[in-house]
Amino acid sequence: MSILLGAIADDFTGATDLANTLVGQGMPTLQSIGVPDPGFSADDAAAVVVSLKSRTIPAADAIKKSLAALKWLQSRGAKQIFFKYCSTFDSTDNGNIGCVADALMEAMDVPFTIVCPAYPINQRTIYKGYLYVGDTLLNESGMKDHPLTPMTDANLVRVLSRQTGHDVGLIDITTVEQGATAIQNRFKELIENGIGYAVVDAIKDKDLKEIGKASTKLKLITGGAGIALALPENFRNVGLLPQGTAIPLPSVKGRAAILAGSCSITTRQQVANAESKLPTHFLDPMNLSEQTSDDIASTLAWVDKQSFEKPLLIYSSADPNVVTQAQQKHGLEAAGKLVEHAMALIARGLVERGVRRLVVAGGETAGAVVLALGITGLKIGPEIDPGVPWTETVNEPRLALALKSGNFGKPDFFTKALDMLK
Ligand code: ADP
Repeated sequence: MSILLGAIADDFTGATDLANTLVGQGMPTLQSIGVPDPGFSADDAAAVVVSLKSRTIPAADAIKKSLAALKWLQSRGAKQIFFKYCSTFDSTDNGNIGCVADALMEAMDVPFTIVCPAYPINQRTIYKGYLYVGDTLLNESGMKDHPLTPMTDANLVRVLSRQTGHDVGLIDITTVEQGATAIQNRFKELIENGIGYAVVDAIKDKDLKEIGKASTKLKLITGGAGIALALPENFRNVGLLPQGTAIPLPSVKGRAAILAGSCSITTRQQVANAESKLPTHFLDPMNLSEQTSDDIASTLAWVDKQSFEKPLLIYSSADPNVVTQAQQKHGLEAAGKLVEHAMALIARGLVERGVRRLVVAGGETAGAVVLALGITGLKIGPEIDPGVPWTETVNEPRLALALKSGNFGKPDFFTKALDMLK
């Protein structure tokens, strides 16, 4: 079966966000980790989101990886390609949004595409081409101080113009509010004038729906996860995507565990909430070292003493003063890497011991675990809490995985997630 939508995302969590949005609109979706191998099976998926780590790598590498992803998606018959970037348009004058989009346009031989990072439910809106984060212009938000992609200009027409060889136009809110036909008329006008990109205003989800509807015939779309809200419906309208497709929970059986490496307030609350209900082990970074793996061995020895029936909680999540102590001992970055590495090895040990249902808290922690377990792709399941779905790995051993970035989820997230699979 060929896929309908092929997406290329410039980072892992953004890819999950997009996949989760598509699934929320009834579109069965797979997320691949990196460019899929030729043999990667996308059976039963209507959309594949290829997650790259291309946001801040050299532009030439980002282009190369994105074109490889495009080639794979085209080989699976993707009818529309979606280039997904962050809703705060994270990029610099050297790229990588403009240069990757240019390369995709050239490879696909399309003269025009839209640029719409708006994501109203997350407070990212575009008005007259200016990107807002909540009530603040992008260049006055925290993004102005981002270590890798400081955003010092909120005008996306200007920002993108510095990154691309094409002319950049604007479709402003007055046109968007008139609906899909008015937007399409404006596409035509811009194409006739040789404009390659249209930054499109959007303030509300209903604006995204109209933009999505207008874009049904565009072979290439670019934007944030917000605009994806509107895309499944286009395929449904032409009978390519069935109505009411059920998205099943992972059907994996086996031992259950939670690994928490995030130190966010939200995750620490979730750990405290689960601690009274589950067997719990604190992985103390003060005991970790690059030289020995004693602490990992003792953690796994603890696992071996626990009942198979009860989910286990292993965490390094700690208050800021405890984190500071570990950072003083090991060094700022080294402390984080040490804990991530330990969590990754523990995850491997858990899978060797029969764990098949695993919740991981922390973005970097989740990245390290996914890598250590050799996961090539995830089938996206139903949502646990906003922004966090259950997923199932596509390669053996099949695992049910919930990967949660630190700040996500309600206080009872861990037990709620595992209860869903009972
Ligand atoms: P979040 O999604 O909350 O940002 P991450 O996993 O991305 O969570 O980042 C948390 C970082 O903190 C990781 O690098 C992790 O290894 C590190 N870490 C976790 N626990 C501790 C601790 N007790 N002391 C120091 N660093 C820690």
